Amino acid sequence: MSILVYVEHHAGTIAPGSLGVLAAGRELATAAGVPLTAVVTGPGADAVADTVPADTVYHAAGDRFQVAVGSVDALVAAAEHAGARIVLAVASVNSADIAGGLAGRLGIGVNTDLTGIGFEGGEFVCERPSLDDTVVVRCGYNAGDSGLAGIALFRAGSFAPAETAAPGAVEALEVPDSGRRSQEFGGIEQAEQTGVDITKSDVLVGAGRGLGGPEHFELVEGLAKTLGGEVATTRAVVDAGWYEYSTQVGQTGKTVAPKLYIAVGISGAIQHKIGMQSSGTIVAINKDPHAPIFDFADYGVVGDLFTVVPQLQQRLAERKG
Ligand SMILES: Cc1cc2nc3c(=O)[nH]c(=O)nc-3n(C[C@H](O)[C@H](O)[C@H](O)COP(=O)(O)OP(=O)(O)OC[C@H]3O[C@@H](n4cnc5c(N)ncnc54)[C@H](O)[C@@H]3O)c2cc1C
Repeated sequence: MSILVYVEHHAGTIAPGSLGVLAAGRELATAAGVPLTAVVTGPGADAVADTVPADTVYHAAGDRFQVAVGSVDALVAAAEHAGARIVLAVASVNSADIAGGLAGRLGIGVNTDLTGIGFEGGEFVCERPSLDDTVVVRCGYNAGDSGLAGIALFRAGSFAPAETAAPGAVEALEVPDSGRRSQEFGGIEQAEQTGVDITKSDVLVGAGRGLGGPEHFELVEGLAKTLGGEVATTRAVVDAGWYEYSTQVGQTGKTVAPKLYIAVGISGAIQHKIGMQSSGTIVAINKDPHAPIFDFADYGVVGDLFTVVPQLQQRLAERKG
């Protein structure tokens, strides 16, 4: 019995979303009292397997596994070999393709667009934002007699990424050929990246409408720079044209899980919360003591941001000095 994670990789590196799922998988495996296993497929999978933080990592490295239908063959074999109770993956286009194939092949269900998972009373319980992300629904699996409950696909950035590490064991997977040849590999093109990628930063200073206008963003930019981080924003800020859309966190923006998220002048609306709630430590600075952000922040400062942020900045500079 085990928890099985399908690990995506690009150019020899594990995708950040998969590292997040590996972190969630480790917690789930501990709660369920079973080992964490992982499977990597496609060219280069054997080298990547050596960096996957799991108890056992299977790899299927030939060209045949470059397309989804080949990876489905590998996952069927890995799930059987590992005695998987559930298969976890990041909700990318590739994994969604594979999950659909695997579900059809094994006759199991898929829960998609998830932001959390737990093990309660012997059952897997997933968290899925719904109704425009205004509520979080708890959902499970109707697995019948099968030992494998189903597949869980998570929004990228839902979990702080695990560190890469040498696995407990690495095994080349024997994959029986299903004979399915419905796909052909056409190649990969790297999309052009513009602006800062806030999903990769360990520290984010979130700026909300409380800043009052774009002329005050130097304040949060300075704080972010002192902490070696980046500025993130709310939709209210982006809609007002104060900052770039690429920095927006939330339902219609990015999902992030930095080690530290400092929310400055942000009310904490559910659509924003959904995108940053998995941050390691959340600090809120808001002049309204009843702002919803204080319900889920680890530390809160009730005060005027135009007083608090410069003081914080000064203290940090003194410490650094
Ligand atoms: C379908 C849909 C999708 C959405 N998607 C997103 C999304 O992806 N991301 C997102 O962020 N939002 C999203 N929203 C919008 C969301 O509902 C909120 O309107 C938005 O998050 C509010 O942004 P805010 O916290 O910056 O502004 P506000 O809610 O206006 O909050 C400003 C806060 O600043 C505080 N403040 C004001 N002045 C000061 C001061 N001087 N010092 C300290 N504090 C001060 C106030 O007390 C207040 O709490 C979405 C909404 C819908 C309907």
